[in-house]
Amino acid sequence: MKLLLIEDEPSVVSFIHRYLTEAGYDVSVAMDGQSGLQMATEHSFQLIILDVMLPGMNGIAVCKALRQQNDTTPILMLTALGSTENVVAGLDSGADDYLVKPFKQAELLARIRSLLRRSPDNTANAVNTTTNNNHNTNVLKVSDLELDLNTKSASRYGENIVLTATEYRLLEYMMRNPRRVLSRMEILENVWGVDFNMNTKVVDVYVNYLRKKVNRKEQPALIQTVVGMGYMLKEEE
Ligand code: CA
Repeated sequence: MKLLLIEDEPSVVSFIHRYLTEAGYDVSVAMDGQSGLQMATEHSFQLIILDVMLPGMNGIAVCKALRQQNDTTPILMLTALGSTENVVAGLDSGADDYLVKPFKQAELLARIRSLLRRSPDNTANAVNTTTNNNHNTNVLKVSDLELDLNTKSASRYGENIVLTATEYRLLEYMMRNPRRVLSRMEILENVWGVDFNMNTKVVDVYVNYLRKKVNRKEQPALIQTVVGMGYMLKEEE
């Protein structure tokens, strides 16, 4: 399992590198944003651990650049700044999760495992065991929106929608529960996992993210807000 660590603080690099290597991961290190982006672009990793405060190009910019290249590698952001704005900026830039420094070793490992489990590339065995034998039934369909569970790809009117790991999980959950109001807590538990002590704000951030991709101009809105209740996937009336 190859991971990329982008972090400029030598003591943090050596701590994380030693710990993850002992846990059996193959860890590559970049100590600034620019070279991290280059490594992520030239090589393939199962997960990227990305510090926000980096010299030159910061973590948010690196994350945005990767997502703009349609790179969907799960990204765990490290932030020393625990404020909501920074967390939201990180998630908005396309990160899948974040960890506030200082953190416990066990927590880092738990987040990495959870992200790897959630990653579309690694969920093949977890998906829909009842329909595995029939390829045709491995496509979820709601109105004109389709999600192919084999290729982990989404499309609307036949047009491909590029999703990050977390967006994919969120869309899959919503498409498995169409025309039903899903509360923020319900979404948080099912998409991020109950072991995640996260604010439900992350749900709003991600639903908005997904909405921008799914609800396109001149197409009927599919992801709808139910005021005071949560979200629902259904065709506009
Ligand atoms: Ca730093």
